[in-house]
Amino acid sequence: MDEDRKQSHNERMQRKKEVVDAAIGRAQEERGIVILITGNGKGKTTSAFGTLYRALGHGQRAGVVQFIKGTQATGEVIFLQQHPATAAVQYHAMATGFTWNTQNWEADKRAADEAWAHARRMLADPALNLVLLDELTYMLKYNYLDTAEVVAAIRARPAMQTVLVTGRAAKPELAELADTVSEIADRKHAFRAGVKAQAGIDF
Ligand code: ATP
Ligand code: MG
Repeated sequence: MDEDRKQSHNERMQRKKEVVDAAIGRAQEERGIVILITGNGKGKTTSAFGTLYRALGHGQRAGVVQFIKGTQATGEVIFLQQHPATAAVQYHAMATGFTWNTQNWEADKRAADEAWAHARRMLADPALNLVLLDELTYMLKYNYLDTAEVVAAIRARPAMQTVLVTGRAAKPELAELADTVSEIADRKHAFRAGVKAQAGIDF
């Protein structure tokens, strides 16, 4: 690189640094936030568990409710149950598998209410830094849970508690409540090219 280009590169980086430093300077508020990870692409639950493990790394406490439990035990939950940090995590998975071809509304509704009772308790516990509500969006979309009640409980949580919500088709009320919304787009998925779901990747 000649001297002129080096100089102009350095000036550009300096201007960038000033913009970033100013933005960092403006963000001074300290509080828990609501993070919504939605969209049709792969990576919602794994991203949420990445954040959970990040919090545990800092010695924080967390609550996890999984509103849809697949038939396969997932690696992240197996790991959580084996890891010593598990003492810092309260975990509940919805009892009956919520099924797409809802054959038994009553049983699913009971299971959803029970899972929500655990979530509500966690959302009122100031000892929990993070509450992960995995696949919560479907409970609202299919009216297993009341959207206004869920929004109110999340809103009334302890000031320093962060809530992570995952799932496709998030209702607008959830997106509005959230401080951070990431929508993962589905550009490609190996399954559609005929690749079988794999342990460690898909569950
Ligand atoms: P992951 O748990 O891998 O982060 P996710 O939470 O974003 O995925 P879900 O809708 O909860 O996605 O579905 C979980 C399962 O479905 C995973 O096995 C995942 O690989 C698969 N999956 C996710 N998105 C897609 C997609 N767009 N097409 C096909 N399969 C998908
Ligand atoms: Mg998921």
